[in-house]
Amino acid sequence: MTYQNYSLKQLQQIDAAHHLHPFTDHKELRDIGSRMITRAEGPFIYDSEGTELLDGMAGLWCVNVGYGRTELAEAAYEQMKEMPYYNSFFKCSTPTPVLLSKKLAELAPKNINQVFYGSSGSESNDTALRLVRHYWALEGKPQKNRIISRKMAYHGSTVAGTSLGGMDGMHQQLGGAVPNIVHVMMPYAYELALPGENDHDFGLRAARSVEDAILEAGAENVAAFIGEPIMGAGGVKIPPESYWPEIQRICRKYDVLLMLDEVITGYGRTGEWFAAQTFGIEADTITTAKALTSGYQPLSALLVGDRIAATLVDKGGEFYHGYTYSGHPVACAVALKNLEIIEREGLVERVKTDTGPYFAQMLKERIAGHGLVGEVRSVGLMGAIEIVKDKATKERISPVGSAAVAVRDHAIANGMMMRATGDSMILSPPLIWTRATIDMAGERILKALDLAERDLR
Ligand code: PLP
Repeated sequence: MTYQNYSLKQLQQIDAAHHLHPFTDHKELRDIGSRMITRAEGPFIYDSEGTELLDGMAGLWCVNVGYGRTELAEAAYEQMKEMPYYNSFFKCSTPTPVLLSKKLAELAPKNINQVFYGSSGSESNDTALRLVRHYWALEGKPQKNRIISRKMAYHGSTVAGTSLGGMDGMHQQLGGAVPNIVHVMMPYAYELALPGENDHDFGLRAARSVEDAILEAGAENVAAFIGEPIMGAGGVKIPPESYWPEIQRICRKYDVLLMLDEVITGYGRTGEWFAAQTFGIEADTITTAKALTSGYQPLSALLVGDRIAATLVDKGGEFYHGYTYSGHPVACAVALKNLEIIEREGLVERVKTDTGPYFAQMLKERIAGHGLVGEVRSVGLMGAIEIVKDKATKERISPVGSAAVAVRDHAIANGMMMRATGDSMILSPPLIWTRATIDMAGERILKALDLAERDLR
């Protein structure tokens, strides 16, 4: 590639002059310059200076099979040669999305057998929102269109994704959300449990905020509840065990559909193919993307439960919705190969029985005792380290987020790529991590915590 003809400085200047980045302060970008990642292999990424970083975020929660998989490049190349593109509108199809849909129906929970494709998690959440409202309209209940979500949820960045999500800053910039979406409390005991309230009781209380919202609106007006099984971008907030069964009970009681957003948790991260299986949830829709192709191609799949699919078929009529790249043959070919790799290498099972428990043990034994750490938490290979000033009182370092950013910067400087969200340090590594990689991560994180503590105290 010709970028080698440019110096880092030149690339940064061109980047700042012409490239508007997502979720970026463009003034800061201009002042500091972007970090240029130029190469990646296995669990490592390399910047333009040749610095090696252990990628604790699998790109952006997606590169589950790790980097440098030539098989995925070959699958894309072969598909491009044979048939690079045709649409799936107007009763046309191409073979790869057909075969991928069959595979996904096999992997998904039993009540799910249909798939609607997009190119991103945000797009598929748009599809999910439109689909559940369309479902109730077909059922003769068009007024049953309210959606209940949660504060701090992240469901993407399109207008519908932002409206479904519960991020205040994003709402403020939206200038008008999709109507009829309400947000209830998040199920995060460490921050929100009342004095003396145990995790179990807190989980029930958090779930019952959904029931309150249903009763307030009237169940006849509520279409669905949407939630990430584990809130990802909101800080890897893991609900107490009592939460999801209670949500399921409430949804059934009031005939409210249950929409899961598994854009992060799908395809093995929690030690099952889907977190729906980890938490025993039966959902009507499951939004997936990211690790479906391990990020090698943009592709998302909304997994649609039999209840909704049956109504679409029985009632008929066109659903006026779809994307040029829905079921893109190249992306689907890469997804099929990616799923084959995950299966062949037993990555989901490995997370469940080996690396997931080892990761949890590493966090507990090596990180939790550190002076800056209030809590560690994880499910499978998805975890967070909560930064506090005082372990006993849970007092935070002010301003919010500054401490986690300090730890993150030291982590990166010491060869560990991780993310800071609020006061949470987040890890969501490729599923190819071994015990040795987890040890390496533990050492680097501990060093970053020590260095940050030295700066902050
Ligand atoms: N939903 C969840 C839970 C996510 O974490 C994300 C992205 O991180 C999205 C939706 C949006 O996906 P995309 O960025 O592919 O649009």
